[in-house]
Amino acid sequence: MIEGTLEEQAEFIEGLLGIDKERHADRSIETNLVHGYGERDASGGVSTPLQLSSTFAHPSFDGSTGYMYSRCGNPTRLALEDAIALLEGGKKAWAFASGMSAIATVLKFFKAGDHVLVCDDLYGGTYRLFSDIYTQYGLEFDYVDCTDLAVVEGACKPNTRALFLETPTNPTMKVADLAELKEFTRAHDLMYIVDNTLLTPRFQRPFEFGADIVIHSGTKYLCGHNDITAGFLVVRDSSLIQDLFTITMSEGALLDPFDSWLMLRSLKTLDVRLQRQQENAIAITEFLKQHENVRDVYYVGDPDHPSYELSLKQTSGFGAMISFRVDSHERLKKVIESVSVISYAESLGGVESLITYPLMQTHGAMAPELREKLGIDDCLLRLSVGIEGIDDLIADLQQALA
Ligand SMILES: *Cc1c(COP(=O)(O)O)cnc(C)c1O
Repeated sequence: MIEGTLEEQAEFIEGLLGIDKERHADRSIETNLVHGYGERDASGGVSTPLQLSSTFAHPSFDGSTGYMYSRCGNPTRLALEDAIALLEGGKKAWAFASGMSAIATVLKFFKAGDHVLVCDDLYGGTYRLFSDIYTQYGLEFDYVDCTDLAVVEGACKPNTRALFLETPTNPTMKVADLAELKEFTRAHDLMYIVDNTLLTPRFQRPFEFGADIVIHSGTKYLCGHNDITAGFLVVRDSSLIQDLFTITMSEGALLDPFDSWLMLRSLKTLDVRLQRQQENAIAITEFLKQHENVRDVYYVGDPDHPSYELSLKQTSGFGAMISFRVDSHERLKKVIESVSVISYAESLGGVESLITYPLMQTHGAMAPELREKLGIDDCLLRLSVGIEGIDDLIADLQQALA
């Protein structure tokens, strides 16, 4: 067994992997995406080794390799967790079996009677987890427009413990002012939690704006190939590490070694994928904006978007998520049934372009009043733009919208 606190144990394990965080922190994010997960092992293999073993033999009665059992630590998963911590500029990351299990883990910090402020345009699964499950354990949630500080301030209560938000949100693509909300969370001593799924650390690094915890659905851009379900939780400083070790080791909703290895492989191309997806998204936004059967187009990278300037200030890219409203529900059905390069499917962030009907799919679990307030109606479609040829994507939308 390893001696010392759990944090010391983590440092010991990192030592075994030979990760030099200080040195890697000087490199560009593009380089860290490709190389950021430690040194090669004795074989010199360029790809991180896949360690499938669920248990690890101890070299002597009280000796340890640093590993004992894969729920507590696995070398391949740890390499991935270190890569994510490095990319976000955090102290430590955990890789989960899904984004939802990462979000469920962060809720373990709160107890019955605690109140959490949440952005109103929220991933539907997160809304369901909060509203249908954790309210049963006495947690309270209020869903507020995080683009309006006065509204957020007004919803803060004596028992408020945290602010949980996504930015940009989807499908309505609202952008929260991360620096302004940092001041708010500091003034009220709240835990500041940001779901960074839509932009990834390549385009947005919430720790630089004071976030305490960054969450990801790794299923989306970080994976990028629509073939792994994964989640991440990253902390900025050491104070939460010990508790998180206890929670994750006890609950075990962690990512398995093979998916961890696939995710490491995916990270290497994140930058080139995102650049191409964004280029395509900009061209598709221009096409949709001039189409006679399209009513409203929401893309954060559109200079007409109300938060375009704010995005320029706090992000280094706009991502590749677009929502748009067509002129009738019949048109919406026709578009969904006519696309052929683009697939009608849930999820986002992959190299394959996907179209979604939020009202019925991603936001089906949301209270109808809230959906109505947000404008998630029966004419709204969401597009996750992939890396296909732009002419093919536009031709596909052209024929579907005709
Ligand atoms: C998909 C998604 C989640 C949930 O992640 P899973 O990997 O599907 O469990 C959470 N937040 C956002 C913003 C998402 O898009």
